[in-house]
Amino acid sequence: MPAMNNVDAQELAKFSELAHRWWDPDSEFRPLHQINPLRLEWIDELASLKGKRVLDVGCGGGILAEAMARRAAQVTGIDLAARPLGVARLHALEAGVENLEYREVATEALAAEQPGAYDVVTCMEMLEHVPDPSAVVRACAQLARPGGWVFFSTLNRNPKSFLFAIVGAEYVLRLLPRGTHEYAKFIRPSELARWAREAGLATQASRGMEYNPLTRRYWMSGDTSVNYLMACRKPG
Ligand code: SAH
Repeated sequence: MPAMNNVDAQELAKFSELAHRWWDPDSEFRPLHQINPLRLEWIDELASLKGKRVLDVGCGGGILAEAMARRAAQVTGIDLAARPLGVARLHALEAGVENLEYREVATEALAAEQPGAYDVVTCMEMLEHVPDPSAVVRACAQLARPGGWVFFSTLNRNPKSFLFAIVGAEYVLRLLPRGTHEYAKFIRPSELARWAREAGLATQASRGMEYNPLTRRYWMSGDTSVNYLMACRKPG
């Protein structure tokens, strides 16, 4: 598959359609708002964001990108959906966050343009929406400088994640619109770790994200069976 075609137009359309609600913390994007402080803290602890050049791949409306900019990183957010990018730009403008820019460019194209340009690359909740996620992992690795960090998050693939992330989140609790996620596109940590390794990255740590529907709270744990994050490093 040619790298520049590594995109599913229907996926982009889904996110574009909802874009105007991206910053509404009670919308379909509530889960992203809720997990954001948790993942931000973990990323900052490992990679210490202040003063770093950071790339956020599949940034959408910019929830994580803007939060990292507020931690004094120099952030570039990229996505291929135009409307979420428009919302992200407007929100940064209104919030007066200046060390942040957004570009509509494919990850693989940016990797060819700026190899090794970033201290930290983040790619959150995006791989499970892409036809060839291993190509995105490879591009993220190319974009990081030697010694730089690359963070991924996605959904694991097993009966529990089917039950929690699709049946629970989309049908029972209705946290997400039906059809947000497709089970076959979920990624096992072992698969993600293999793609990272093949891309020349060394896996450093992983964490799970859990949700309690009664308290409506998320927390990080060692349980990677549903939603998880993986931190990798490019050898120096
Ligand atoms: N990373 C953000 C948004 C996650 S939603 C966060 O965690 O807060 C998934 C995002 O991936 C959407 O904005 C969607 O437009 C984007 N996306 C899907 N396929 C993509 C592709 N091939 N290239 C770039 N972005 C893509």
